[in-house]
Amino acid sequence: MIRFPTYESCTLCPRMCRIDRSRKTGYCGCTDQLKAARAALHKWEEPCLSGPEWARGGSGTVFFSGCTLKCCFCQNYPISSEQFGKELNSNELADIFLRLEDQGAYNINLVTPTQFLPSILPALDQVRSRLSIPIVYNCGGYERPEIVEYLKDYVDIWLPDLKYHDSALSARLSNCGNYFEAASRAIYQMILQTGAPVFEEHAPEEPSQPSFLLMKKGVILRHMVLPGHRDDSIALMEWVSRELPKGQYLLSLLSQYTPFYHSCDHPDINRRITSYEYQKVVDAALSLGLTEGFIQEKSSAKEEYTPPFDLKGL
Ligand code: SF4
Repeated sequence: MIRFPTYESCTLCPRMCRIDRSRKTGYCGCTDQLKAARAALHKWEEPCLSGPEWARGGSGTVFFSGCTLKCCFCQNYPISSEQFGKELNSNELADIFLRLEDQGAYNINLVTPTQFLPSILPALDQVRSRLSIPIVYNCGGYERPEIVEYLKDYVDIWLPDLKYHDSALSARLSNCGNYFEAASRAIYQMILQTGAPVFEEHAPEEPSQPSFLLMKKGVILRHMVLPGHRDDSIALMEWVSRELPKGQYLLSLLSQYTPFYHSCDHPDINRRITSYEYQKVVDAALSLGLTEGFIQEKSSAKEEYTPPFDLKGL
């Protein structure tokens, strides 16, 4: 087990900047000051995290500022690349977690947390014994396996992206030539840690409504199909089916890509995906036996998936 990295000589993510964040910012754009842009119930995660549309609760998302990837098409770019957010301390973050549970959160969903782990872990330490809902680690997949291993007593559900197979593509769109090498190792470690997905029945919230299943433990692997790059998506599906242990994770194939931020600098991704492109990737996944998980309606390519970053709940 590694000694957990601190903000001094930061090695929290595979960028390994080794800079002192009390003095300057690394690639993620963050100092050692914890910042977040929103803490609120979110209805648009996978149904086993957000509950059905008609349910009262939702996923208790906390969106942290900064990002270790900063993809050129990021839908959250005001917080990931422009550092929008409110400064918090760990005690305030602990109170936010408790308030989210009181509001009906089915889980605490840490969105892009890696760059602030030294501030987030003390907050979780304060409230873990009082929270009765799982902790979700919602990240871009670009993680160090050693850090994933360290987090095994903190994280119940891993929600990583698996964005690219091709390193030239990841270098161009996310400034990250070693994305697949790092993400594939980290995701393997996440699956080893949690084992097969575990669900629990959530009792009806109104007498007229049915009960529903919520995830308590496991890995949901997300892949968003990019316009013009279905071959890369299919290469990822082949790797997933070949290398990841069957029955030990769920796959979530997203069709919601919408050009944002610097997408317009890259003509190949400056449009939404077509139904044909998405269906080709879904067909490939199914033919490879990847049948456990979620697919999205093509009409899901809407900007409503991006919540307003208005400091709500902070
Ligand atoms: S968290 Fe930020 S400063 Fe630390 S290694 Fe990653 S990009 Fe660099």
